[in-house]
Amino acid sequence: MLCMAAAMAMTPHSAYDGPEAPRLQVSLRLPDLRAQLTRLTDARATYIREEPLQRGDTIASLLQRLGVDDPDAHAFIRGSTAARHLLDLEPGQIVQAESDQDNLLVSLHATLGGDVSASHELVIERAGDLDQPFFKAHLHTVRNELRYEMRSGTITANGFFKTMDAENVPEEIVQQMVSIFSGVIDFHHDIVADDRFRIVYEAGFRDGALVRNGRAVAVELVNRSQLYQALWYSADDTKAGDYYTFDGRSMRRPFLRSPVEFSRVSSAFGWRNHPLHHQWVQHKGIDFAAPIGTKVFATSDGTVDFVGQQTGYGSVVILKHDGGYSTYYAHLSGLADILPGQHVTQGQVIGYVGQTGWATGPHLHYEFRFNDVPQNPLSVMLMEPVTLTGQTRQRFLSYTSDTQERINILRSFSVASIGN
Ligand SMILES: [Zn+2]
Repeated sequence: MLCMAAAMAMTPHSAYDGPEAPRLQVSLRLPDLRAQLTRLTDARATYIREEPLQRGDTIASLLQRLGVDDPDAHAFIRGSTAARHLLDLEPGQIVQAESDQDNLLVSLHATLGGDVSASHELVIERAGDLDQPFFKAHLHTVRNELRYEMRSGTITANGFFKTMDAENVPEEIVQQMVSIFSGVIDFHHDIVADDRFRIVYEAGFRDGALVRNGRAVAVELVNRSQLYQALWYSADDTKAGDYYTFDGRSMRRPFLRSPVEFSRVSSAFGWRNHPLHHQWVQHKGIDFAAPIGTKVFATSDGTVDFVGQQTGYGSVVILKHDGGYSTYYAHLSGLADILPGQHVTQGQVIGYVGQTGWATGPHLHYEFRFNDVPQNPLSVMLMEPVTLTGQTRQRFLSYTSDTQERINILRSFSVASIGN
């Protein structure tokens, strides 16, 4: 059996190794495939199998699913402190076993956590020969290849989350995006079809496969024709960084734009129940339609002023904030474990959406007051953010221009790039 194939000529250690070297096309005569196959069958073959850890798994049940039938290996894993880390895995995490044709364990690999840049890997290996098998277990750190991934798209009539799914934005990155803009955008009410987004995030890869997604490093959102940009920046290179606009203003605000968790469930609900912002004057607040049980957040740091029942409001939480501000959260179905006088932080869960008091359907009635006079919560938008100053600002601006350059490079590679 003769096979002819074209291949690139490889001439090691010659002047032709450079990328501009001419490529030669030559025909090669391949060896007899039948002879090769016979030799392959003679050789010791091993089999690789992967299984997720299941709730309630023992070492025995896990090895059995992996197709390993090896009492020596089982005894070793049970007795070795390092190897027993195997059972520290969360259900659903993958264990990979290599076994020989007699179902004896050759090696076993599992990733025991880590972050976007590195993973901690447990390796159990057979050493010695088959007559005198013994095993070794060790934990080591495997560095991931850090890549910057970009996703972009236009919000469709199907809504924010369906668009994110269609554009393959990972769930944890979607959550980060919502959180980054929570001081300036109320995702329930502000996001509309034709809004556009672009997001650059870190992702750790090994052997070409995604290990773990990391942090969103830059996000752009064009919401109702207004451009919002946010960039991750850590002034002293520790983990305690934050998001800033490209000119150095923090994305954080004293108050969140929405007191209601923006989730797949609540977004589908809110989409059809658009509140009438202009009615706030008569109404003294804004209604957020959401399913019963949706989390309600403290929109700002403060102390609990009241928690309990009031006529009309039903179950209600009232918070007091610095500068004469207070916020009301009414019609709750349940209250978080909070007491009057207790300090709460921005984003902390204080209760759950309900329909108690004078409410015609499940929703949160939210009031924002200054010196006890109800204000339009939209005016919260006017509050000035923290701005970087001095040397920190200079360092930030030079970092920003570097990052912007990198984003622009990614942008030119993006097929679904949004315009400016
Ligand atoms: Zn209301």
